[in-house]
Amino acid sequence: MIPAAFDYVAPTSVEDALAALAQHGDDAKIIAGGQSLLPVLRMRLNAPEMVIDLGRIESLRGVRDDGDAIVIGAMTPHAVVGSDPLVEEHATLISKAIEHLADAQVRHRGTFGGALAHADPAGDLGAPALALGAEFVIQGPGGTRTVAADDFFVDLFETAIGDDEILTEVRIPKRGGWGAQYEKFVRVAHQWPIVAVAATVRTDGGTIAEARIGLTNMGSTPLRARAVEEALAGQPATEDAVRAAAEQAAEGTEPPSDLNGDADYRRHLARVLTRRAVLAAAGVA
Ligand SMILES: Cc1cc2nc3c(=O)[nH]c(=O)nc-3n(C[C@H](O)[C@H](O)[C@H](O)COP(=O)(O)OP(=O)(O)OC[C@H]3O[C@@H](n4cnc5c(N)ncnc54)[C@H](O)[C@@H]3O)c2cc1C
Repeated sequence: MIPAAFDYVAPTSVEDALAALAQHGDDAKIIAGGQSLLPVLRMRLNAPEMVIDLGRIESLRGVRDDGDAIVIGAMTPHAVVGSDPLVEEHATLISKAIEHLADAQVRHRGTFGGALAHADPAGDLGAPALALGAEFVIQGPGGTRTVAADDFFVDLFETAIGDDEILTEVRIPKRGGWGAQYEKFVRVAHQWPIVAVAATVRTDGGTIAEARIGLTNMGSTPLRARAVEEALAGQPATEDAVRAAAEQAAEGTEPPSDLNGDADYRRHLARVLTRRAVLAAAGVA
């Protein structure tokens, strides 16, 4: 289908984009890579009068080193993020997640910030953001604020970004000594995950000192597997200990049931994938 008619602007600064948002209010919609928004417009599930394209704002692109964090610009395409050496070194979980995210065309058009702002519960980037303790930098008429990953995902397709705000960048703290693994279960390669698990683990000798685990598609938002994190702390990094802790992976989740699998199947997947991800992140598997 052809989208309803809309006006279009492509500002070259965040300030101009914010001014356009303020001017058009509820009638405006931001477009980044368009990979999720354009299908929505074509199906006429949304019909904004003004589309504000962030594609010409150079300051929103790229990955940079900021001392104790790496910073990923919201408009950086998945393909660029996935092959960036800083990301590979300090946030390998993201490189791993992007490796299996969609197909090459989508990875070249779709953006890191667009995917996170879209907040699809089946999106591949939310769980790694939780596991890595990412921070979201959001700019609005009142200035810039930073939101922790744990507070960013509010509900289905809903984030902490206000209607008059723009996600500008995502900061990922450098955390030496953590292992990481992303486990994604799909029917067909390069599909949205039926369930996925992002695990980061810090071991001390043969013991798991800390773990942070994010779950994909186990509820209306990406979730932390906090019961597993608590159960793992102080345990030996062994197959038996990890298996026992991973049994709690579905605790507190409300996974959907759909044609790809019912809620019980997803709970089972969460347990299996958590065990695999934690073992790999701890260097056991
Ligand atoms: C065929 C196909 C397969 C896919 N498979 C996967 C997959 O396996 N895993 C996966 O994770 N994703 C997948 N995707 C989605 C892909 O990751 C998209 O890139 C992503 O969902 C949206 O990014 P975008 O840059 O295209 O954003 P857009 O579609 O342009 O925007 C998405 C939404 O976010 C808002 N938005 C965008 N940028 C900002 C910003 N900076 N600040 C505030 N709001 C903003 C827009 O207003 C819109 O509401 C797939 C998409 C397609 C088409």
